[in-house]
Amino acid sequence: MSKNQQPSAIVNGKPEYSGQNFEIYDPSLDEVINAVGIADADSVDRAVVAAVNAFGAGGWAESSVAYRQTILRSCADIIDKNRDELVRLESRNTGIPIAQLPRQVERAAYNFRFFAEYIGQQSGQIYEQNPDYLTMVRREPIGVAALIAPWNAPLALATMKIAAATAFGNCCVVKPSEIAPLGVIRMIELLHETDIPKGVVNLVNGPGDPTGEALVNHPSVDLISFTGGTETGRRIMQDAGKRLVASTMELGGKSANIIFEKCDFDRAVSGALASIFMNNGQQCLAGSRILVQRSILDKFIAAFRNRAEAIRIGDPGDTATELGPLVSSGQRDRFLRFVSEAEADGGALVTGGEAVADVRGYYVKPTAVLVKSNRDRICQEEIFGPFAAIIAFDTEAEAYAIANDSRFGLVSYVWTQDVTQAMRAQNAIKAGVVWINTSMVRELRAPFGGVRDSGIGAEGGNACARFYTSEKTVTIPVDQPRLPALGQV
Ligand code: NAD
Repeated sequence: MSKNQQPSAIVNGKPEYSGQNFEIYDPSLDEVINAVGIADADSVDRAVVAAVNAFGAGGWAESSVAYRQTILRSCADIIDKNRDELVRLESRNTGIPIAQLPRQVERAAYNFRFFAEYIGQQSGQIYEQNPDYLTMVRREPIGVAALIAPWNAPLALATMKIAAATAFGNCCVVKPSEIAPLGVIRMIELLHETDIPKGVVNLVNGPGDPTGEALVNHPSVDLISFTGGTETGRRIMQDAGKRLVASTMELGGKSANIIFEKCDFDRAVSGALASIFMNNGQQCLAGSRILVQRSILDKFIAAFRNRAEAIRIGDPGDTATELGPLVSSGQRDRFLRFVSEAEADGGALVTGGEAVADVRGYYVKPTAVLVKSNRDRICQEEIFGPFAAIIAFDTEAEAYAIANDSRFGLVSYVWTQDVTQAMRAQNAIKAGVVWINTSMVRELRAPFGGVRDSGIGAEGGNACARFYTSEKTVTIPVDQPRLPALGQV
């Protein structure tokens, strides 16, 4: 077996290989670098059964908080210890610039540390309104969680799910994206170098059909946490609904970044560039619709263009690179189709709009188009690449109307030095997150999730406590209250 052959599954800590493979590309070279096995329905079944056993007979669900904390901290430590290897793998497979990845891998470790601390602070509830009874509400782990992740930030996103599910006493089967699974595969191998009991975290590889579908529809899966595209989420939720399985959906976005005249201009330009061009523009929380007050529009476009054209495009393995290739040739072709559509709709190209010439990888230039209408397709569809639509507005009310004229509602950004304007904005915008005068900041205790087509449910401390546990109400009499004396003579 070639050393580039990756397992189709990791079950009870052991790799499994299958006859059928899919290919993994280095997007910077348009070159196949690995073959990954496809987990079929039997393999998915073994992974789920391993999780069922670890949950019940294996004792994970009943284990003490202190024990789970120790295991989760050791998971964090082993990720930290192998940070550089994980950074290199993730960069090679996704094309994300290597300079931007240490933060994501550190975050992967932090996810475990965060939930280890978090479960140490949890308590149940007691109701004592009726002096005859004590009623307590306990939270119990649910069982086996199917954790399905996308390709754009594989380690950071998958670990959020794994850490939360296991911290609250569940076991899991993880399915990374078939486009970029290498970092997650290696990370799960590493977790098994700690004392984590076998079967608590299992992995299956493969595309939605057959692997994802077999997982979602497995009768012993009790929970589904999904991050990915809206249409996939809709389909998975329908499948989950048939069995009444709880699911959480972190889906796409077309987030508004509103830049008011009263902003700190330089910071707003930096924030706008970061929120659309970091991570190669492939981020759910991209500020992909930049709404600019007309009085500062020309100045903004000039500054944005200058900086966008100075962005260093190149080999993601080079620490100086700021923008790497898109993850696949399909994503690049889709990106270029949106450029044509923008022009057909009468948009004015501000910068970019083309693939980088004479290179082997899937490189495109940082792109921005000044659009005529927020109704244009590039303002309504998630492009998932370094492509900004710039929209002019005159009044504050108009800005909010444009921001909310979207089927999505994931995040939003507001730039203004006027506190009252900022307060009105956070109130008016329909989105799961509003960032004011900052680009992305993730507070793990607070929920992160979208509204409308951006999803249902959220991730974060309290949100995960609610999702990954079920409430049980227990009522106990404090003395010997009278019972109905049926049949007593
Ligand atoms: P995708 O929906 O194509 O795939 C996501 C995952 O679902 C993959 O692992 C895929 O194999 C799996 N899958 C596909 N069909 C399935 C099925 N029928 N049953 C079970 N699993 C199935 O998404 P993607 O292209 O990998 O990721 C990009 C999308 O993810 C973008 O829309 C982006 O906005 C979204 N995203 C959202 C968040 C968030 O927090 N809201 C974060 C990152 C990415």
